[in-house]
Amino acid sequence: MRNLEPQTVPGEAKHGSLALVNTRFLRAGEPVDLLADLADAGQWLTEHAAAACYEPGINALTAADAERLRALRESVRAVFEARAVDAGPDADNLTMVNTAAAMAPLIPVLTAPDGEFILAERRIADSEAAKAMARLATDAMTLVAGPDGAALAPCGAHGCIRWFLRTHGGRQWCSNRCGDRVRAARHYARAKKS
Ligand SMILES: [Zn+2]
Repeated sequence: MRNLEPQTVPGEAKHGSLALVNTRFLRAGEPVDLLADLADAGQWLTEHAAAACYEPGINALTAADAERLRALRESVRAVFEARAVDAGPDADNLTMVNTAAAMAPLIPVLTAPDGEFILAERRIADSEAAKAMARLATDAMTLVAGPDGAALAPCGAHGCIRWFLRTHGGRQWCSNRCGDRVRAARHYARAKKS
């Protein structure tokens, strides 16, 4: 079930939470889930290691982790939906995102190799999955509450459930493919009328 959707959507490279939400999409009207089972979820986290801060092989992902990742995805989607219409999200979804972020808190770490003082941050967690989910949840928080929040939008094409960041104000589609599809449908509707 891989490589069904090779097009990346604007904003996904910067925001892992956007990529997470877009792991569930429709293809020719059929639902596709890139996190459908444990193996798929592990592969997705591995492929998005930089965004998700996931180091494969250290702590194997469990079925419960994969389930939690899918639940986090739905809560992040709900928070995105609320952000897009300037409404308050459902408390359960906010709690889910906050809880995931708290699973691996960032702590400051001071080192001083050869007398050079360096301040860094490290996530503390029981598992790599917890770290990845905390990172993704934190990314969702900074996305909706930060400067990119106003650019967050659902794709306007019928039959597409992806989210993207508007690269310019008028952009309404997550991908050229969706834009082409909408233009083709409009053209067809016009041709039928005349
Ligand atoms: Zn789309």
